[in-house]
Amino acid sequence: MLQLEDVHTRYGNIEALKGVSVEVRQGEIVTIIGSNGAGKSTLLMTICGSPQAAAGRILLNGEDITRTAPYDIVHLGISQAPEGRRIFARMSVLENLQMGSVPSGGRHFEEDVQKVFTLFPRLKERINQRGGTLSGGEQQMLCIGRALMARPRLLLLDEPSLGIAPILVRQIFNAIVEINKEQGLTILLVEQNAFQALKIAHRAYVLSTGRVVMEGAGRELLANP
Ligand code: ADP
Ligand code: ADP
Repeated sequence: MLQLEDVHTRYGNIEALKGVSVEVRQGEIVTIIGSNGAGKSTLLMTICGSPQAAAGRILLNGEDITRTAPYDIVHLGISQAPEGRRIFARMSVLENLQMGSVPSGGRHFEEDVQKVFTLFPRLKERINQRGGTLSGGEQQMLCIGRALMARPRLLLLDEPSLGIAPILVRQIFNAIVEINKEQGLTILLVEQNAFQALKIAHRAYVLSTGRVVMEGAGRELLANP
């Protein structure tokens, strides 16, 4: 479904991705793990077109999307829960979900909201609460829920476990597995929390200072750290 071929990304003189090749097949959960500064966020942002790859190619179902503008990405069926959980702090949970449904035309709004609430019952209990008053874990749930409202074919998740209480991390990872199994959604998950990510991933890549240094089945890498 998604292929990165020898992708290079630069910030001025810093080369954050130094020729990265990654493949995500239909129906898979693929994880990219690596320490802080490895280039994980840059990889997801490059897929979304900001920054754009300086060299290499990104293919979506065989179509070259390397030069796609960020605002067009969602119309290709790619939805992202970005780093830092950028939800709308002054809007309610429901209004945040409404914003997410814009790209899908809002036609299946009620049905899609119910799906999100089934995945994240905590959000249902807080339907009218402002985004800014949610806990970090709840904001992450809302961020993922909002991304799902666009009805994507591919979901990009940037460090959903970052700074979140362990019990909510478990709920979030269970939901990711559920989304993949029940809805058949393809997922690319970037994580520093290698243990959690490898447990649920079909395949994994280890990124280190802008290069893939290891790849394999998730549980395989878990057994051979
Ligand atoms: P990770 O997500 O794995 O922590 P990042 O993709 O955020 O890594 O960063 C990869 C490298 O690119 C780091 O060396 C980081 O300092 C650098 N970098 C990230 N964003 C920028 C930016 N906007 N300007 C300059 N350098 C950046
Ligand atoms: P954290 O552990 O991330 O610091 P908080 O203390 O912010 O979490 O929130 C704990 C719980 O209280 C969460 O379930 C959150 O939804 C709820 N909460 C926080 N602020 C408000 C508020 N102003 N109104 C209603 N509920 C709130």
